[in-house]
Amino acid sequence: KKSYKSIDWTEFQMKNIKTLPAGYQPSEKLLEERVILVTGAGDGIGRAAARSFAAHGATVILLGKTQGKLEQVYDEIVAAGHPEPLILPLDLQYLTPDSAKALTETIEQELGRLDGLLHNAALLGSVTPVANYSPERWQQVMQVNVHAAFLLTQTLLPLLTQAPDGSIVFTTSSVGRQGRAFWGAYAVSKFAVEGLMETLADELEEVTAVRVNAINPGATRTRMRAAAYPGENPATRPTADSLMPLYLYLMGTDSEGVSGYSFDAQPPLTTQA
Ligand code: NDP
Repeated sequence: KKSYKSIDWTEFQMKNIKTLPAGYQPSEKLLEERVILVTGAGDGIGRAAARSFAAHGATVILLGKTQGKLEQVYDEIVAAGHPEPLILPLDLQYLTPDSAKALTETIEQELGRLDGLLHNAALLGSVTPVANYSPERWQQVMQVNVHAAFLLTQTLLPLLTQAPDGSIVFTTSSVGRQGRAFWGAYAVSKFAVEGLMETLADELEEVTAVRVNAINPGATRTRMRAAAYPGENPATRPTADSLMPLYLYLMGTDSEGVSGYSFDAQPPLTTQA
C-alpha cells in the first residue's frame, strides 16, 4: 500500500488529461444532420462553438440568458447559410426539474433528436476568500455551473441515448483540478463538473454509445476572462474561435469511443483559469 507521501501528485493530476490529437482537421460536413445544444451560446466560447458547429453542418440549439445576444448569433448563422438554429432563452439560475422537462419536450417536438450537449454557460461569481464569500452568491454559482448542468443532462439523456453516437461535453477549468485562493465557488463548481463528467462517463460506458468528456479552454479572450483579470491585455490571450478544433473533435464521430477524459484546449503553461 502506498503511503500518502509516495503519491506523485503531478502524475496523479495528469492521469486523465488529454489534448486534441496532433494534426486533427475536422471535415467540412463533420456535424451534418446533427442537433447540438449549446448553453451560454450568446457570448464568448459558447458563441464561437455554436457558430463553428453550425458551419460544420449542425442544427444548433442556442440556449442562454440574454435573448438579444442569442438572436444576434442566430442571425450570423443564418446569414452564413448554415442550418437554421433554434433559440431557447433561459436563465439557468431558475432551472427546475419541471422547466428542464418542458425544454426537452420542446426539443423533441421541434427537432426530434439530440446528438450533442455542450455545457458551457457558467458564472464566475466573486473573487474573494472563502471566509468572506456571500452564501447567496455561492449558491447561485453552484446552481448555474453544476446543478443546471446536472438537471439538463438528466432530462436530455434519453434523447441523447437514441442518437447514433451522442456526445456530452462539460466545461471545466484548471481551478477545477487544483484549488486556488480566492476562486471560491467557481473552483468548487468546476471540481464538481469534473466529478459529474467522470461519474456519468463510467455509468454510460457499457450501456450506451454516449460519450462524456470535459474541456478546459484555458485562458481565453472573453468577457469572463476580462472580469477575472481586469489588468490583463486581452490581446495576449487566444480567441475562442482558435479553440474550436477540440470542440468539433469531441462533438463529431472522430472521437467515438473516447469517454471519461478531461481535455486541455491549450498547452498547460497558458491555462491559468
Ligand atoms: P462568458 O462570460 O464570456 O460567457 C458565458 C455565457 O454563459 C454567456 O453567454 C452567458 O449569457 C451565459 N450564462 C451565464 N449565466 C447564465 C445563466 N444563468 N443562464 C443562462 N446562460 C448563462 O464566459 P466564457 O465564454 O469565457 O466561458 C465559457 C466557459 O468556459 C465557462 O464554463 C467558463 O467557466 C469556462 N472557462 C473560461 C475560461 C476563459 O479564460 N474564458 C477559462 C477556463 C474556463 P449572457 O451573456 O446572456 O449573460
